Amino acid sequence: MEKSNANPSIECTVTECEYHCQDQQYCSLDSIRVGTHEQNPTQKSCTDCESFELKKSY
Ligand code: SF4
Repeated sequence: MEKSNANPSIECTVTECEYHCQDQQYCSLDSIRVGTHEQNPTQKSCTDCESFELKKSY
């Protein structure tokens, strides 16, 4: 996985993620999938980045 390729269309601050660019607040993936763990999502915290993977060095 090439992690130095910041995708300017996907801002992200989750530095614990394997796909975060670390030095820049962007995701390195070409695209991500956003979903929800709720039946009826009503606020931001109901949504999830389903492309998240815990950084392997953690
Ligand atoms: S996969 Fe999701 S959580 Fe991980 S860096 Fe990309 S946008 Fe952030």
